[in-house]
Amino acid sequence: GGSVRLDRLLANLGYGSRREIQALARAGAIVLDGAPLRAADQRIAVTPDLAARLRVDGEALDPPPGLVVMLHKPLGVTCSHKEAGPLVYGLLPPRWRRRDPALSTVGRLDKDTSGLLLLTDDGALLHRIISPKARVAKRYRVTLDRPLRGDEGAALASGTLMLEGEDAPLLPVALEAHGPDRAAVTLTEGRYHQVRRMFAALGNHVVALHRDRVGGLDLPEDLAPGAYRVLGEAEVARVF
Ligand code: URA
Repeated sequence: GGSVRLDRLLANLGYGSRREIQALARAGAIVLDGAPLRAADQRIAVTPDLAARLRVDGEALDPPPGLVVMLHKPLGVTCSHKEAGPLVYGLLPPRWRRRDPALSTVGRLDKDTSGLLLLTDDGALLHRIISPKARVAKRYRVTLDRPLRGDEGAALASGTLMLEGEDAPLLPVALEAHGPDRAAVTLTEGRYHQVRRMFAALGNHVVALHRDRVGGLDLPEDLAPGAYRVLGEAEVARVF
């Protein structure tokens, strides 16, 4: 919301330095509702429809700040600069890596976990989703090394299961068996490597892990691994 200087808006979206944006404006390459904006220091209103109305070099403007992206994270890419391997940010348009505020992942998935990952440049929204108080449910599809015994659901639901090296029990987790060695688990916390450590505490071992839901938001069937979508307000609201 609000208004912002055109050169600042575009610089913060990664289009270049203020000087470069001034040159683009003078060249007539920045067009609002069909008319070139030749003065880069003018203020413009940042409205949700701005991306559809403002064109830069003939292309629709990148999503303005307040961006929420849903990515189908593939296996083998990482959410953390500290881990080896390609980063999830590399799956997004290169210019998006130069945005200020920057996009961050909303929590993390392990390198060897696939599925629904949100990214946003809205710090308040990020904290609202990952806050333990919000208890946003996350659902994972799990493939196990050994068959389920049958008592895992009760142990997870009890709210007494302890993870190795921790001193507070896990909040209750719902388990749905989907086969001898397959299950869906729904958790409202996000402790480090929680799902893998949970099944280790139960004497099993996770061989494949995929997140298919966050809050009320499902990973769409038609979103291929590595593909992403910009979410609209209604979809973001489904997280809570
Ligand atoms: N739990 C894990 O162990 N790994 C993930 O990536 C997510 C949840």
